[in-house]
Amino acid sequence: MRLTRYFLPVLKENPAEAQIVSHRYMLRAGMIKQQTAGIYSWLPMGYKVLRRIEEIVHQEQIRAGHIPLLMPTLQPADLWRESGRYDDYGQEMLRIKDRHDRDMLYGPTNEEMITDIFRSHVSSYKDLPLTLYHIQWKFRDEVRPRFGVMRGREFLMKDGYNFDLTKEDALHAYNRHMVSYLRTYERMGLTAIPMRAASGPIGGDNTHEFLVLASTGESEVFYDDRVTALKLGQREIDYDDRAEVSAVCEEFTTLYARTDETHDDAVFQAIPEGHGKVGRGIEVGQIFYFGTKYSEPMGANVVTADGARVPVHMGSHGIGVSRLVGAIIEASHDDKGIIWPEGVTPFSAGIVNLKQGDGATDAACEAIYAALKAKGLDPLYDDRDERAGAKFATMDLIGLPWRVTVGPRGLAAGKVELTSRRTGVSEEMSPEDAVARLAEIYEAHR
Ligand code: ATP
Ligand code: MG
Repeated sequence: MRLTRYFLPVLKENPAEAQIVSHRYMLRAGMIKQQTAGIYSWLPMGYKVLRRIEEIVHQEQIRAGHIPLLMPTLQPADLWRESGRYDDYGQEMLRIKDRHDRDMLYGPTNEEMITDIFRSHVSSYKDLPLTLYHIQWKFRDEVRPRFGVMRGREFLMKDGYNFDLTKEDALHAYNRHMVSYLRTYERMGLTAIPMRAASGPIGGDNTHEFLVLASTGESEVFYDDRVTALKLGQREIDYDDRAEVSAVCEEFTTLYARTDETHDDAVFQAIPEGHGKVGRGIEVGQIFYFGTKYSEPMGANVVTADGARVPVHMGSHGIGVSRLVGAIIEASHDDKGIIWPEGVTPFSAGIVNLKQGDGATDAACEAIYAALKAKGLDPLYDDRDERAGAKFATMDLIGLPWRVTVGPRGLAAGKVELTSRRTGVSEEMSPEDAVARLAEIYEAHR
């Protein structure tokens, strides 16, 4: 993309309404525009990051054997009357009447609807196990929408639902979700710690939340800091292998890590000297096993091998897709702007032309731009007629992980500069080497 042809409405001033850094940078970098409290338009660069995150979520769910579908945002109230949650859910639910005076609602989550789909089409144990998920907009009329997309009223969530014959099968689905979530967050450059949590309105007794450590997080967390060093890395995991999946979960949940709701001070005090930490975290996901809480009242049954009719065991599993955009910025920025991890960056590299209009410099930039595109990378070429300082400031603010700087002096010696946004370190090399280096870096993130 050429910057002169893009839509990147960067703000010079710090927006007064933004209290935390991710909100401030998302507004300043022209990623979002608030339309009313807790409801945002995603401007092109924000939308690009959102789609990258969505894509990683899809890839990791499909890798775990889960099946995508799409349910609507509007739901009939009657489904929620069946589960008893229509009255229980309270003021967070946006209730709507259609022209026929029928009660509708904008879905805050989809347990009821997915259970309805299941009971309409599945009736035999032979069709299990089954995990269906979608990535769809939710509405929760939060009392205090704030911090930009971190606590919106309309927000994008991945929510998945498993249907299993037995509790053991459903716990395997739970573990599969935990591992797939760990991989998902790692690919986004995040350390998200699974913490034992309390269940809230979804119900059920088995639940973990995934928290990204950040001083601006809304949850108070207590943890053994050795958990932050745990990584899945490139490990191949067979999601059908129960023992293997369960061993990974154990590895990631044995060290103490809890939110204030489940905190146990006696256990916390027993953590070896120097490792017990109290901090704050951003909840980027949660997984639940809740058994037959919805299948029983809603009649989601299957016939077993010996002819009995039993309600299925279920769980639900959510990732805060739009919240993640803010959470990643909270975890990765400096005082000049955002620092995108390669896995989610809107553009792979920026090209800065130090002397726009100079024949040789323009030609070199064009050649690098074409070569990066030919490698399947997605560069952003700052081809504006602006001073170098202004171009650098924009690149630093929007946070592309790599910058190729092209100027007449370097070119005279056959060199351009490749700069890491994270470390600030620059290296001189030929344009060909810069392209090859970037191709190699991004190979690891495909
Ligand atoms: P919270 O405690 O932050 O209100 P929750 O526990 O009610 O969230 P879940 O029902 O577990 O939320 O939803 C799954 C994920 O969706 C959460 O882990 C979070 O990342 C995201 N999410 C929930 N509410 C919001 C919101 N208002 N804005 C943005 N993302 C949200
Ligand atoms: Mg939650």
